[in-house]
Amino acid sequence: MKQVVIIGSGCAGWTAALYTARANLQPLVLTGAQPGGLLTTTTTVENFPGFPDGVDGYELMTRMQKQAERFGARAQFGTVEAVDFSKRPFALMVDGEKVEARAVIIATGASHRHLGLESEAKLENKGVTYCATCDGALPAFRNKPLVVVGGGDSACEEANYLTRFGSVVHLIHRRDQLRASKIMAERTLANPKIKPVWNSVVTDVLDVAQDQVTGVRVKNVKTGAESMIDCAGLFVAIGHVPSTQLFKGQIALDQSGYIVPTQGAATNVPGVFVAGDCADHVYRQAITAAGMGCAAAIEAERFLAAQNG
Ligand code: NAP
Repeated sequence: MKQVVIIGSGCAGWTAALYTARANLQPLVLTGAQPGGLLTTTTTVENFPGFPDGVDGYELMTRMQKQAERFGARAQFGTVEAVDFSKRPFALMVDGEKVEARAVIIATGASHRHLGLESEAKLENKGVTYCATCDGALPAFRNKPLVVVGGGDSACEEANYLTRFGSVVHLIHRRDQLRASKIMAERTLANPKIKPVWNSVVTDVLDVAQDQVTGVRVKNVKTGAESMIDCAGLFVAIGHVPSTQLFKGQIALDQSGYIVPTQGAATNVPGVFVAGDCADHVYRQAITAAGMGCAAAIEAERFLAAQNG
């Protein structure tokens, strides 16, 4: 039986691992399908304190893991399929095997939101992607027009990154103002290779018959006018949905699926704690996730100490 199992290996998960490891709790980190979490799919992280020149997202996560492992944290590559929080010790099914834990920290993060179009689903990985860092350099996108959808920091970051590869990057946003931070918005609008398409949504991705992306159908939400934009790639960057399906019926979730902490990092189930983007629809930053991971670890440690005492 484990003292502490941490579900998820992003900033929140590895920070919780570092703290619980230093408390001699030998945490087990269940990595999930994407070890290191969403940050491994970004380019340079410019706003994580301590890195004046920025740090590569993948490198940051690798360093966090190393730091936690130095104090006895252990990573297990695997996906949790089911949890039973109805009694202690808690039971988790991980790739068909049962893992028992006295305390659990949920740090499952969030995944990419999809537009929800049938053609989008059919052309996923055939020109439709949710990660410019992962796919932007593919030959299919070189010197071709590309489309990014979204108006937040992610969309701006993706659009700027893609200007290295595409001939032009159309940035389609449903409003006439970017949601992104000021510095990112200014950088984006000043880039001559980025063409904003305001007040517009993608209504269809072409061409399913050819089994590859050749363009998008776009509707202006103000005028209703429809147009076509030719492109070889569609990069969707419209935010995230919390990865919490697994906990439905086990733990309190809000209407959007975010875990609702009762106090600090505690949940409505004593012994189960939460950290990071799966419980945060407000800040959603690497550094806030790390801070929440620290808080969850301290609370888990206190919970276990109280059980033993
Ligand atoms: P976000 O800030 O939630 O932005 C999502 C964008 O997608 C918004 O512009 C939104 O439009 C649009 N959108 C949402 N649903 C849509 C739909 N169904 N169809 C069309 N457009 C849709 O998400 P994010 O950009 O992924 O950023 C998430 C968090 O991570 C933020 O806190 C951000 O600051 C942070 N982040 C930081 C950095 C950095 O600092 N380097 C990089 C990436 C992300 P509206 O504007 O109309 O709502």
